[in-house]
Amino acid sequence: MQLQNSSILVGVKIHLLSGIYLHIPFCKSTCSYCDFYSTGQIKLLDRVVNALCKELIVRKGYFKETDSVETIYFGGGTPSVLEEVHLHHLFETLNHLFDLSKCKEITLEANPDDLSESFLDMLAHFPINRLSMGVQSLHDNELKLLNRRHSAQDAIEAVQRAKQYVSNISIDLMFGLPLQTLDSWNETIEKSLALEVQHISAYQLTIEKGTQLYRQRELGKVLPASDELSTEMYFMLVNKLTDAGFEQYEISNFSLPSYASKHNSAYWQEKSYLGIGPSAHSFNGISRQWNIANNMRYLIGIENGEPEIQQEQLTEKDHYNEKIMTALRTKIGIDLSAFEVRFGNGQMQHLLKAADKYLSTGLLQLQENHLRLTSESFWISDGIIADLMID
Ligand code: SF4
Repeated sequence: MQLQNSSILVGVKIHLLSGIYLHIPFCKSTCSYCDFYSTGQIKLLDRVVNALCKELIVRKGYFKETDSVETIYFGGGTPSVLEEVHLHHLFETLNHLFDLSKCKEITLEANPDDLSESFLDMLAHFPINRLSMGVQSLHDNELKLLNRRHSAQDAIEAVQRAKQYVSNISIDLMFGLPLQTLDSWNETIEKSLALEVQHISAYQLTIEKGTQLYRQRELGKVLPASDELSTEMYFMLVNKLTDAGFEQYEISNFSLPSYASKHNSAYWQEKSYLGIGPSAHSFNGISRQWNIANNMRYLIGIENGEPEIQQEQLTEKDHYNEKIMTALRTKIGIDLSAFEVRFGNGQMQHLLKAADKYLSTGLLQLQENHLRLTSESFWISDGIIADLMID
């Protein structure tokens, strides 16, 4: 936590350097596990990009203490549906409104099937310096089950092409899939490492209500991997990536030295960020805001100058619980000195008392005045984190 970048306002710390998230709410098809907000209405793309620019103008004052932006993240949905004219409009607006001179990382999420030579060539005209690619698996039967539009070979070739243009590439992988075996997961990891990317995010499949996989599971058509198999897959992942020089800097995120995602790390450090676009969330250290998750209502609200944004003021209890939840997800853990300054000695003692049983079994560690989980206890972190939070 960089105290030199912070100011104290009525006892609440406001971080000066900030991130902007832009949500591109379109997908050409729906992946079977996906519960993010997106639609197939790509005909609305021009109108949504105009609205994103308008929202940026209207909400520029969100970062009250600064207009300096440290990271920008194009997420979705599928940002790789954007065309040159859209990126031009977005960057022109961002440059006009904000100081991007300290902007260290600009990420664009991309689907492998969008990363043609001509698309990558077009991207090179913009200051995007990181690609996050949804690879998910390097087995065609698993990709088919996930309803991804690319094959394993498509993904491999897309990463190889992208490496000619961008020197910081992250790939997303998934484990605990129906049909997935320990051998197929091992092969996906091995082939991913052979691609020599700088960052790998790996998520265990969770089957959310409303998704295609949820319906298929209800009908008995698919069976997710057992807990035992998922556990073996997690430890295989950690061991292989660690052996290959990756650091597990967050529960699901692994990077080569100095390639941790700056944008996502800022979320876990509770830095402020502005979320633009349908369903996007914002945080300014005091409250959370979220935009309506509906393209037409979002467009009408922005176009009429009455954006549909909901807001939640965070209580002291919320701040306490958020700190536990976000900091313990990371390898750094909770900085107890900063925690005491923020919440007082009484709350710090309360935390240490709650942590005691996990410290005595080694599931939590106390090192250099930081309370942290280990690679082993990351896997069972949900229960530990819930236990340390205030009801
Ligand atoms: S591409 Fe991403 S956002 Fe779109 S349906 Fe698939 S997982 Fe969801």
